[in-house]
Amino acid sequence: PRPGSSPALQAWVEDIDRQARTKLGMGRVADYIPALADQDPERFGLAICTNDGQLYTAGDAEIPFSIQSLSKVLLLSLALRRHGDALWRRVGLNPSGMPFNSLMQLETEHGKPRNPFINAGAIVVADHLVGAFATPSKHLQDVARTLSGNAGLLIDRQVLASEWRHRSRNAAAAYLMKAFGNLDNEVDEVLNAYFACCALRMSCADLAVTLNYLAADGHAMTTGDRFVPPAMAQRINALMFTSGMYDAAGDFAYRVGLPAKSGVGGGIVAIVPGRFSVCAWSPALDERGNSVAAQYALELLADDLGRWSGTLP
Ligand code: GLN
Repeated sequence: PRPGSSPALQAWVEDIDRQARTKLGMGRVADYIPALADQDPERFGLAICTNDGQLYTAGDAEIPFSIQSLSKVLLLSLALRRHGDALWRRVGLNPSGMPFNSLMQLETEHGKPRNPFINAGAIVVADHLVGAFATPSKHLQDVARTLSGNAGLLIDRQVLASEWRHRSRNAAAAYLMKAFGNLDNEVDEVLNAYFACCALRMSCADLAVTLNYLAADGHAMTTGDRFVPPAMAQRINALMFTSGMYDAAGDFAYRVGLPAKSGVGGGIVAIVPGRFSVCAWSPALDERGNSVAAQYALELLADDLGRWSGTLP
């Protein structure tokens, strides 16, 4: 992608950045692992990647952060490319209405997670990839490097080690699924792959470019190839719309109305199908684990979308 050429759009992005920063005092940085607790809550970044290859950025859009659950979108895309609809025998398609790390439904629903965007669901998806690739996290890192065009992307070893040390809840989910026969590989190996994917560091600009294929019928911005078929891109967007914001998916759909996925690193990616992908980031989260300022930025953006119908590609 090239830097955006419309001064009006650039001014819009900067205006959203300015307004979103009024929310910076609100929320709390994730502290379930020490390695994330020292993030700077004053950071805010915004990046828009239009389907015709323009990149508009504001604030801290170039600063890499821990992508955490945003990796679940890439994991799901890779697993669907490989296994297609067979994946849905092992993970469901419905919103959970529960926190992303909840174990409650896992037992009553016989080890089949509600959807691929809660932790248990992403662990099942990671299990598929452990079966398919020698080092799934390295594969995911390579794919992210190719799709973003940024060969410098790295997995944060400190975050990975911290996830591992504090893995009890994710390990409980994995063992429960193993007991129900819904995990093929060893729990430790699957968890390690899942944590390594969560620990990848990317910036708003990297993420908007990488996930632009969801706005572009599956076409990857950097390679020009079809990364996933159009119907698959549509289905991933549908899942993001219903389950991408955890137990706040309904609220977010009402307020913003776009497919989106959030992570506890404070990033949220949203998709305007046929037009652009956007990533907003700020580390302080609300009680459901979604970034306060990033959600607000996407709300402002969605409110203004009509204004740009003639300008945006
Ligand atoms: N690594 C985090 C976890 O497993 C990912 C969760 C998230 O971003 N919501 O708890």
